[in-house]
Amino acid sequence: MPESTLYINGAWVASSDGAVREIRSPHDNSVVATVSEATAADTRDAIKAARDSFDSGVYASWSMKDRCALVEKVADLIKRDAEILASLETRDTGKRMVETRYDMADIEATFRHFAALGLKLKDRKVDVGADNISSVITHEAVGVCALIGPWNYPLLQISWKVAPALVAGCSFIVKPSELSPSTAIHLMKLLEEAGLPQGVANLICGAGATAGAPLTEDPRVDLVSFTGGLVTGRRIMATAAQTVKKVALELGGKNPHIIFENSNIDAAIDNAVTGAFLHSGQVCSAGTRVLVEKSIHDRVVAEIVRRAKAIYVGGPEDPRTETGPLISKEHLGKVEAYMHDAEKDGATILVGGSRIDREDLNKGWYFPPTVIDNCLSKMKCVQDESFGPIMTIETFESVDEAIALGNDTIYGLSGALWCDDKKIADRVAAALRHGTIWVNDFGPYRPQAEWGGFKASGVGRELGEAGLDEYLEIKHIWTNNKPARSGWFADPS
Ligand code: NAP
Repeated sequence: MPESTLYINGAWVASSDGAVREIRSPHDNSVVATVSEATAADTRDAIKAARDSFDSGVYASWSMKDRCALVEKVADLIKRDAEILASLETRDTGKRMVETRYDMADIEATFRHFAALGLKLKDRKVDVGADNISSVITHEAVGVCALIGPWNYPLLQISWKVAPALVAGCSFIVKPSELSPSTAIHLMKLLEEAGLPQGVANLICGAGATAGAPLTEDPRVDLVSFTGGLVTGRRIMATAAQTVKKVALELGGKNPHIIFENSNIDAAIDNAVTGAFLHSGQVCSAGTRVLVEKSIHDRVVAEIVRRAKAIYVGGPEDPRTETGPLISKEHLGKVEAYMHDAEKDGATILVGGSRIDREDLNKGWYFPPTVIDNCLSKMKCVQDESFGPIMTIETFESVDEAIALGNDTIYGLSGALWCDDKKIADRVAAALRHGTIWVNDFGPYRPQAEWGGFKASGVGRELGEAGLDEYLEIKHIWTNNKPARSGWFADPS
């Protein structure tokens, strides 16, 4: 009998129709877990549990101090179980343990950040210029939240939502990707252990179209916070509009990585390789679009190709592995199709370009680091998010051209630039229309700093202070301490 993995109203239950899903390793397609596959009715049960718990005030009425203490306790439990969580994540995603351990440390830091932030939240008095009036701005929980996550950083992306929702006093339903639910299942156990009241946290495992869609349609849900692809994000926003839900969207990116001649070129190349090929490019902020000043093009590209060829692709257990598999057979197919587009449009594939044929990897979904040169801004391979280990290379000849190319995308999630001239670096950083800009660096983020996108990369922000605001309603309470008639209309009496 497989484990019952839907967590609804404080109980672990099987799907109402008994359906299960096999979770398969991207490394060798072996079955690593069997989980309950929720029906739409199960999702509606979870929504009811969350709504009832929120309306009862069983958790929302706790003091901020008590809620933040619970969130700190969750951070402690994540730290205690970091090794278990990292191995579950490695199992589902094929990522090396060294990487999933990093993720668990970031997740713990996220919970601690929001616990500390909650304690700083204060009411604000408005001076209305009258002694008899008290005008106060207060914050309260937004209500019932649907928290929907992707497969690339499964627990990290969910934690960016769960931690602030808990601090705010919300009730919620978590819906992880159907491909990688194991760490979200474990997180529910930790929330239970930390003492979260029944019905506040609920978990639905299953397909987006069936188990996920009711979350965005149901009027009992107040907020949908979604991390995933642009196409799903658009659909969710349109559906949520029917019941005027609040929507927070963290979508894709096509992130420029700009290298000027006047820069530390060695560091720029090394970071460009990391930016494009880390986690085989399955990173929303991957710097897959390299823009290099024309005068240094040949030198930079030759070195990038040398480095890309040397990256060891392998399974999570192989100590030589530097990057691992793509998440699924379907995703591998999409990445391969991207190669046909590049060739058809006249770009040049310098290294990689087709799935890896190696005996130890043939059962899994492996694609090599790929470098595509002679790209133009209008090409599909430059504009579309491949979400694979693919770097495209374009050139520029002026600062203005670098800025124009860096902004020539529907997305606006992140960008990096390498330049030793501070004036130019500041100008480019200010002009790029992306939510995070790294200057002479690539990739770092902190839970204390906001994360999110301009344009089609999303709506709203996670982390930082704004990441808590998403889960709060603002209320203005006006109290007149000397009640009096309004006197607006003439009184005929
Ligand atoms: P996805 O296909 O859009 O799916 C994301 C989540 O939405 C999954 O849990 C999915 O369930 C669910 N879903 C699908 N259709 C739904 C519907 N109609 N209603 C409700 N939920 C639905 O994205 P993905 O392939 O998992 O993730 C990759 C994408 O995430 C990339 O575009 C990447 O850039 C983006 N991402 C962005 C950030 C950021 O911070 N901006 C971070 C990480 C990832 P199923 O798993 O069952 O399909």
